[in-house]
Amino acid sequence: MARALADKVWQVDVVDQAPSPAAGASAVPVGVLSCHVSVDDNPLSQLTRAGVQKVMAFAQQHLVKGQDWLDCGVLERRLEGHTKKKTWQPSLIGSVWHGWVQTPTQGQLSQAGLSEVNAHEQLWQPHGAWIKPKTLVNALMDHRGIRFQGGQTLRAMDIPALGYDAVVLALGAHTSDFLADLPHAPELPLIPVAGQVSWGYHATGTATAFPPFAVNGFGGFVSGVPTPQGLAWYSGATFHRGELKAEVTPQDHADNLAKLQQLLPRAAQELKAQWQTPDQLQGWSGVRCTSVNRMPVCRALDPAKLPSWYVLTALGSRGLTLAMVCAERLALEIDLRSH
Ligand SMILES: Cc1cc2nc3c(=O)[nH]c(=O)nc-3n(C[C@H](O)[C@H](O)[C@H](O)COP(=O)(O)OP(=O)(O)OC[C@H]3O[C@@H](n4cnc5c(N)ncnc54)[C@H](O)[C@@H]3O)c2cc1C
Repeated sequence: MARALADKVWQVDVVDQAPSPAAGASAVPVGVLSCHVSVDDNPLSQLTRAGVQKVMAFAQQHLVKGQDWLDCGVLERRLEGHTKKKTWQPSLIGSVWHGWVQTPTQGQLSQAGLSEVNAHEQLWQPHGAWIKPKTLVNALMDHRGIRFQGGQTLRAMDIPALGYDAVVLALGAHTSDFLADLPHAPELPLIPVAGQVSWGYHATGTATAFPPFAVNGFGGFVSGVPTPQGLAWYSGATFHRGELKAEVTPQDHADNLAKLQQLLPRAAQELKAQWQTPDQLQGWSGVRCTSVNRMPVCRALDPAKLPSWYVLTALGSRGLTLAMVCAERLALEIDLRSH
């Protein structure tokens, strides 16, 4: 949001209770960029296509490919009972999905250890990618119009006194708490969803068991991600709807392994021993913010009662794909209302 406003020549103060940028859910060590694919091309699908384009263009220009992000493609599994298992040819010419979604090749399925599954029940997103959110956020914040003020917890009552021309609440899962103290604030249909990622470093010789692309559909899996300590893999995440507390638990590790056993049985088999060795398994947990209709909340709060107050939240499980495109649209609205 800060970058979108700074690009429109606003001077932006980013005030965060955390000491440095990319805290909250944005501290997830690695995330997947992908489209929400729907047969009827619903509004979330349209937004994710624009979002993938936007963030990939920024990554191409400002991040190091292979180190900070990789356009490796995403295999989307459609597992019985979890996503709608259906044979659908989205890549037909004339479909909005042409070029965005294809049927995976037998070679891709065999790289994932899935030679026996029906290719027509899976989707291949060639524009999918993994990305390190911290490097993305730091690159976005690297603009002379942006000033970061860490370690400051904002309260609704303090803000008017600060005298800003516009205020954008981008507080993730904490947005509802903040709004509860803001007179005239509308009630927004926001829901916190805590979740955990399980991750570890590649053991010698495991790499060939892992696909060289990201996989999602029932939890997700990304491997071959360079870190200072060596290549890492990431698996998950869990979903605790209504939960605002983030903590790493053995139960969530077990749940992530159970999901991986369905998503990518070969990778799960390869990692089983590592998963059961506590000092070889790491965890990260955070809290997403989602809305009842799964769409981001990106709007003026109440132009009549709270002029100059805006909100950008409920980015759900696809915040890395959606944040930049939503911010660009909201920055346009703020700019128009302010002149
Ligand atoms: C387990 C997990 C896995 C995920 N995986 C993916 C993925 O693969 N792909 C993807 O696209 N997305 C993924 N996401 C979602 C993505 O991380 C989020 O949608 C996105 O980071 C949300 O960004 P945000 O800026 O809205 O909120 P946050 O990143 O949570 O930021 C909110 C900020 O507000 C600050 N704050 C809160 N209250 C106050 C206050 N009163 N005063 C000052 N500061 C305050 C916090 O310190 C924090 O910095 C995942 C999320 C989780 C939890």
